[in-house]
Formats: sequence, C-alpha cells, structure tokens
Amino acid sequence: MSKNVLVLADVRDGELRNVALECLAAGTKAAEGGVVTAAVFGSQGKQLVEKLSHFGADQVIVVPNPQLDQYTTDAYFQAFKKVVEKVNPDIIFTGHTAFGRDVSPRVAARLDIGMVSDCTDVELADGRLIFTRPIYAGKAFVKKAFKEGTILATLRPNNIPALEADTSRSAVVEELEVELAADSLRTLVKDVVRKASDGVDLSEARIVISGGRGVKSEEGFQPLQELAEVLGAAVGASRGACDAGYCDYGLQIGQTGKVVTPDLYIACGISGAIQHLAGMSNSKVIVAINKDPEASIFSVADYGIVGDLFEVVPLLTEEFKKALV
Ligand code: FAD
Repeated sequence: MSKNVLVLADVRDGELRNVALECLAAGTKAAEGGVVTAAVFGSQGKQLVEKLSHFGADQVIVVPNPQLDQYTTDAYFQAFKKVVEKVNPDIIFTGHTAFGRDVSPRVAARLDIGMVSDCTDVELADGRLIFTRPIYAGKAFVKKAFKEGTILATLRPNNIPALEADTSRSAVVEELEVELAADSLRTLVKDVVRKASDGVDLSEARIVISGGRGVKSEEGFQPLQELAEVLGAAVGASRGACDAGYCDYGLQIGQTGKVVTPDLYIACGISGAIQHLAGMSNSKVIVAINKDPEASIFSVADYGIVGDLFEVVPLLTEEFKKALV
C-alpha cells in the first residue's frame, strides 16, 4: 500500500548533508510508489530544491523564514510541527544528527506520534516497515515494526545509500509561511564561530583515522593528521586521548561521543573498550594499529597491524601518497 512520506532535510552551511539524501532513499523505499515530500528550512532553501528532486523528492516544501537559517530548537520545532500537520504523513524521516536528535522527539511527543531513533536500516516486509536500530551500546540490533499510526524515524548517517541522482526529475515546489513570534523563540543565534581546524565532518566522513591514548601527546596526532590529509579523511579520537588532553572532546567517538559509520576506520593506539566500539564497530572496514597483540580492538578489526603507530602510520602515508598520485 503506497504511503505518504515526509523527509525533513538536514542542511549545514547552506548545503544538504548526505544524510538528507539517505533519508530520501529510505523515504522512496518506504513510500512504495506514494509521494515523497521533502521539507527544507531557511532563506536558502529554494536553492536546494533541484538536488532534493534529483535524489527522490516528488514535492518540496520550502519554509523560507530567515529565522530558520540557523538551527534553534524553538524555531525548528514550530516549523517542523507545522509541516507535519500540513503533509499529514504516514512516515517521517530525518537524520540522527545533533539537529534531528534534538527536534524529533519534541515533535513526536507534541503530535503524539510514534518514534524510532538511530535507525541503521529500513526494510519492507509483508507491507510493513521494519526499522533496525542498535541496542546495548551497539552490541546488538533490534528490529521494530509499528502496528499503526504515523512514525517518525531518525536515520544514522552513512548506513542507507543515497539513490543515484536522476537529473531528469523535478519536484512540485510549495512555499509555506510559518509565523514565528519573537517571544516564542527562547534562543537567538547571533554568531557561529567555527574552529579553524574543522576539516572533514566526522559523522559523515567516508574515512576516519582515530587516535587513542597510544598517541601519547597532542603532537602525537600529527602523523594521523598527515595520513588524513592524504586520504581526505576526518580525524577522530578515543575518550582516553580526549581525557588526556591530547585533543578536543569534539573528536570523541563512542558511547558518549560521536557515532561514525565510515567505509574505512583506522584505529591507532586505541585499546578497543566497549564504550569506544559503540561508536565505530559498524564501520565497513576496520584497521587497528596497536603494539599490544592482545588489545581487544583486534577482535573487531578486519585488518590488524601489531606495531608502533609512530612507525606504521608514516609508512602508510608514504605508500598512499605513491598509490594516489
Ligand atoms: P587505553 O585503553 O589506555 O589504550 C591505549 C592503547 O594504545 C593500548 O592498547 C596500547 O597498547 C596502545 N599503544 C600505546 N602506545 C602505542 C604505540 N606507540 N603504538 C601503537 N599502540 C600503542 N571511550 C571512548 O573512546 N569513547 C566513549 O564515548 C567513551 N564513553 C565512556 C562512557 C563511560 C560511562 C565510561 C565509563 C567510559 C567511557 N569511555 C569511552 C572510556 C573507555 O572505557 C576507555 O577508557 C577508553 O576508550 C580508552 O581509551 P584508549 O583506548 O585510547 O586508551
């Protein structure tokens, strides 16, 4: 039975994040021939309509209000709720990103709709949608289906491949005015200050090079940075490295840090504690470099290198440089 699907597009710096395209792929599957509507917020939303249609949107609702140019909980909550009320969808998808995690439960609770978060897969079986999500810090996965009602699902980035772009597609576009009373917005973003070192976005990176306490110092991350530059990778870290002050907590991967699902994860000087594995064990290929052959990271690694990271990582960098010229 065809379904009415809504995707709330995740936008950063005026660009669609990959997870928005992944949500459209999940939405297209879930719709079973029904209509996929994408919603995009902010004054630059119109510029994203074409890409949304190429990747699966049949309709696009643009809420062009400049108060939505920067994410704030109150403004996005009001606009998202309004769009859901207008579209009256059977299924809603958005990214399991900082933005999706913040706004989705509020909308689900206020509209009394079902919610399933952090999904790594969406399948159709006997006309029902089955959502897969991790439990017990990623040690196991559970499959969930809902008997009835609208479902809001947040999708973990990098798990569901986006569709191939079809440039012949075009979407029906509608602008929706949402009035956001100034006194209903409890926060106002005046300025966004980014760290100069922000490189590839960790949560969407295809390759992640992570350092643990084994890097031994802030300078110890330098060989990892060099390898990351050659591979176009993002640099991450264990909490051990963050706690030791070798890097910023923004790089932490794991149960209490970021969850990443890259094609390639290279763990350097990381022991492989369960809390770290919770954030990276779904990576497609895992390479571990550790001088202790008994380190538990080797139990999840596809390739293990027993050795000193300060010898191994520069060798890898040199070899990749040669291979990639
Ligand atoms: P260590 O366990 O000290 O391991 C360092 C490794 O480096 C060792 O295996 C060693 O053999 C190797 N090594 C040393 N020198 C070299 C060298 N020159 N070359 C190669 N290898 C070398 N941790 C996270 O990562 N993320 C989380 O989100 C997280 N959340 C937590 C939440 C809670 C509630 C708790 C209790 C803990 C959490 N932790 C988390 C911490 C976690 O339990 C571990 O303490 C942490 O992951 C260890 O970091 P590490 O592997 O870098 O350090």
